[in-house]
Amino acid sequence: MTASTGQGPTERRRLMAILAHPDDESLGFGGVLAKYAAEGVATTVVTATRGQQGWAGDPRGRPDALALGRLREAELRAATQALGVHDLVILDYQDGALAHADPEEATSVLVTLLRRLRPDVVVTFGPDGAYGHPDHIAISQLATAAVCAASDSAYRDPQRLAPHSVAKLYYLAITATLAAGYEALFGELAIVIDGTVRRQVIWPDWAVTTHLDTSAHWAAVVRAVACHASQLPRELRLAELPPETHRQLWGRQCFYRAMSRVSGGRQRETDLFAGVAAGGDGGAER
Ligand SMILES: [Zn+2]
Repeated sequence: MTASTGQGPTERRRLMAILAHPDDESLGFGGVLAKYAAEGVATTVVTATRGQQGWAGDPRGRPDALALGRLREAELRAATQALGVHDLVILDYQDGALAHADPEEATSVLVTLLRRLRPDVVVTFGPDGAYGHPDHIAISQLATAAVCAASDSAYRDPQRLAPHSVAKLYYLAITATLAAGYEALFGELAIVIDGTVRRQVIWPDWAVTTHLDTSAHWAAVVRAVACHASQLPRELRLAELPPETHRQLWGRQCFYRAMSRVSGGRQRETDLFAGVAAGGDGGAER
């Protein structure tokens, strides 16, 4: 069911990103992953699908779903290496159909991962799915359900692992600046779902709980984004863009603190691990 490239849990702080597609980890979460990996946090990316539907190239050259999945898996592996991510887990769900996955089965798979790898902090998409993408919305719901279930001693995963309480759960928050930067580079982000056009959902500034400075890591993010050649506009020359453009796109990441056992209030956070004890089991700082 899963393919893993890295080590198991360590006594370091641990971060897990639970995402839908290859490229989410770079385009959406590249800054946060590169920053914490560089700071020695054990980072895991869980990608639910192989992105078998995504193709930005010439339609005449589009590979079949199996071949495209293989290509995108290779791109994902290269991108996570560029970000310094320690552990990559790829699940077998179908791109474009995550909302139709059996929620009990999918929750159970994620609970097993949470209980095995025991992250202090989990990041995922918010209920808006960044731009209403059904797979992003589905993984947000599944990750949230799994974080709740993983801590419930009455919930039995197939491997009967010990419960694990994640200390903090975060949702990605798109700010107006970031949304404008994405569209300048990749064109208008819009998808039609059930006859309705969905576009990027801008979070009001007051709702953003956590601002991360990832400006020291933008070059790693650019290298990771460049790995996803099958998803990038052919005319895009990432390497030729001015550093200021890159810094604006990848130098700041914003999140909404959806759940925390260790911190609260309206004061803006600048660290996902604020309040989390180092080397603990998701517990509060003592
Ligand atoms: Zn995605």
